[in-house]
Formats: sequence, C-alpha cells, structure tokens
Amino acid sequence: MVNIGETQTLEERIKILTEGAKYDVSCSSSNSARVAQKGQLGACHIAGVCHSFTADGRCISLIKLLMTNKCEFDCLYCVNRRSNDTPRASLTPREVCELIMGFYRRNYIEGLFLSSAVEKSPDHTMQLIIQTLTMLRKEYKFNGYIHIKAIPGASAHLIDLAATFADRMSVNIELPSETSLKLLAPQKKKEMLVSPMRQLSGVALSNAHTPRRLVKKIPAGQTTQMIIGASPDADGQIIRLTEALYRKFGLKRVYYSAYTPVNNDSRLPALPPDLRRENRLYQADWLLRFYGFDADELVPADRNFALDVDPKCDWALRNIDLFPVEINTASYDMLLRVPGIGVRNAFRIMQARKHSVLTFDSLKKMRVALTRALFFVTAAGEYRGIGDKPDLIRLRLTDKLPLLQNNNAPRQLSIFDNDIASVLSERNERNGLGDGKTGFGAGGYGAGAPSLSEFSEAALGGGDNPLLEYKADKARQSESFETLF
Ligand code: SF4
Repeated sequence: MVNIGETQTLEERIKILTEGAKYDVSCSSSNSARVAQKGQLGACHIAGVCHSFTADGRCISLIKLLMTNKCEFDCLYCVNRRSNDTPRASLTPREVCELIMGFYRRNYIEGLFLSSAVEKSPDHTMQLIIQTLTMLRKEYKFNGYIHIKAIPGASAHLIDLAATFADRMSVNIELPSETSLKLLAPQKKKEMLVSPMRQLSGVALSNAHTPRRLVKKIPAGQTTQMIIGASPDADGQIIRLTEALYRKFGLKRVYYSAYTPVNNDSRLPALPPDLRRENRLYQADWLLRFYGFDADELVPADRNFALDVDPKCDWALRNIDLFPVEINTASYDMLLRVPGIGVRNAFRIMQARKHSVLTFDSLKKMRVALTRALFFVTAAGEYRGIGDKPDLIRLRLTDKLPLLQNNNAPRQLSIFDNDIASVLSERNERNGLGDGKTGFGAGGYGAGAPSLSEFSEAALGGGDNPLLEYKADKARQSESFETLF
C-alpha cells in the first residue's frame, strides 16, 4: 500500500479521493468529462461533482468524496482494496468541512456525498464520518443536503447517530448473493449489510408517522447499490432481491453498477458485462416501483433479461393472449402494462376518454410511443398491429426484420419461413424465452405499486378483465428475503 498522505497537497488528496468515489453509484452521477472553454459557461469532471435527486425530486449537485481510500478490507472488485498498490490518501473532518463550505459558498455544490474505505475498523471510520457531520451541521451551520455511506460492520448506535445528521444514507449490498460475497468480498458478511439496512428501515418507518417538519433522521431515506456482472448471479436473482429490499426495507432506490474491471484476478471476469444489462435492470426496477409488476413475472430467477427488447415488451410478448386491449375501456392497471404507455400517459388516457372516444390520432397527440404500443392496443376498435405473432412483433420492435430479409435476398417474409423460424428459436433460446407464453411462475401485485383508487377495476365496472384472470391464475411463491440473500 503506497501511503503518501503526508507529502501530498490537499489538491492531490482530493483528486485521489474523488477518483476513488466515482465507482459508487448509490447517488446518481453524471460521469461526463468536458473542459471549460472560452466563451462557454461550466465544465464537467469525471469525478468530483455529481448530480443527485432530493426527496422532492429536485436535481442537485453534490461533491462526491471518500474520507479515505486506505482500506482494511480486500474486496476483489474494488480499486481501493487493501492488496492494491495504489496511492492512498485521507482527509481530516476539518479539511472536509472547509472544502464543503468553500465549494458551497462559491456555488459549486449544493451538498455532499461522503463515503469511505474502512480505515482501521468500521467503527473508527464511522466515527470520522460522524465527526465531520457534527462539525458541518453544528459548527459550520451547514444546512445543505448530505448523503453518507453507512460503513458495513459499524455499531448500531453509530449508525443511529449518523442518521441524525444525514439526509440520506446508503448501505451498499454490492453483491446479490451470500455466495458471491464470500468469494469476492470475504470480510463482508451478510449480517453486516442487512442489519444497518433493517435499522434504517425502522427510522424510515417512524418518519412515515412523524409530521414532515419534525422528521429528524434521514428524511430522504436509504439507498443501496449492486454490482452487476462481477459474480455469476443472474438478473432474475438481482431483481428478486431488489423487490425484497423495496418491500422489506422501504428503500428509496436500488442502483445498479455494471462491473468495471480494475483489478487482475482470476476470480473476476476479464471483461465488463454488456451495459444493456444495467439498463434492463433499471427498466425492470421501474416496472416494480411504478407499474405494478412483480419480479416473478419479469424473468426467471436463473435467467438474465432479454437484451433485444425492454422487460415490459418482453412480458407483453410472453403474454400476447392478454392483448390487444381497447384503449377506451382497459383498466388503468392494464394500460400500465401496454408497451409504449407510461404512467403519465396511462393517467392522461383515463382522463381524456371521459370526454371523448380516443383514436390512434389521440394517442399520437398524447405522445404515446406508438411504434411499440400499436401491436398491443385497439383504439375505437381499430387495430394496426400484425396480430398474435409474438416472434414477428419482437423482430419489428428490434428493427431486425429488414436485416433478416436482406440476408435472405428480397422476398416476402412468411411466418412459416424455416430460416426465420430457426433464427427466432435460436435467439429465444439465447434470451431465455423458452417456449412459454405466460408469466414465469407466481406473484401477486406489489405493495409498492402506485394505486389510484379511482382507477380500480371495480370503478371500471368489472366484467371480463383478462388482467384479473391472469393475476388470479398466478399462485404466489413467496420467497423470503433470507432465501434470496
Ligand atoms: S470495503 Fe471493500 S469496497 Fe469498500 S473500499 Fe474497502 S475494499 Fe473497497
């Protein structure tokens, strides 16, 4: 370990510690790099200032910083691991405070994201963070946004004290299974991660019953991050864990970070995963939180998400018998499940159809993504799709149809075309679609799904509702959090 802290300038140490923090995505980060130019205003740096969102949705700029990158732990995937020969540096609580106040006064930042490697011990590191926060809040009267990392293994009373000063805390679960933790982060035990999350969820729960102006601890809740592709854990496992974290611990966000190879180690993959995996997980995460989907419906536990279409399209194609739905009569829940219709447009459709019959032109004016939606809806009885042909719809959605036709010389595509059929079956195999049309096993509707009572099925007059039948068909196989992780 190269420890050059004593001879480094403050600027050099800040550079090392902001660089070291850039892999933590449990607060959002811009990851852009642009130098300031004459005649233009502003610049972007890969590390340093990032953007995050407060509880009320406001985008703010934070300085993203480690207190130290001297670590006692040896997590294989981490640039700051103990066995790495990398420049080390630390900042004192006073230095962090002076830096924050200086940047804040110059209007560079609106808050702080403070993380740290584990120096000496988890409690020692947590105490340094608390000391910094105490000084910032009490001595410097800093009232800006503070997001800190709970150090795994720190005592419960320190976690509680830190929560008093922070707006948001995150405990990074890092790897989605205990087996992967043992292999890649041997010093981190499951309980070291789960305990503080459970503790902070209790704080969040008490916040829910406290008037907003009196909420003292982590008013912006807790978040976590998982690394994708460093271990063999499938997306199915990851998204089930995510669902359990939202439901059990009331997390505000789960962030996913595609593994970046920074260390040479035979226990790690040589290459980063396809970045679309990270994207698909974010899309699926959105479906869990805002669209009423269950993880069980989205992907089998041992499979990754299809990369060619997004998880909502993938679900719709596997459940093509539920479509097309009539835009003028479908329930709100069903509209949410139509590819190309988001939460805002589902709401708009519900409102607009009270006053007139909606057509495809109405949907276009609402900016519904018709390139996707038209395969799954009828509008005033009109259908513009290509029927109950999930494989062909998939090709249309992925724009692969012209490509396949070109490869096979110009001719009319037929559903019975053997070449096309074999390409489709190969790709389905690869994407883990199998031959099933219905959802993967069981699940009910998520407790976290947004509920607009005025749009309940009952309010819509009930009757034959394929989505209700679909839901009724599914038997719940509730996996406990403990079995997931
Ligand atoms: S605890 Fe692990 S992940 Fe965190 S800084 Fe140390 S080596 Fe890196």
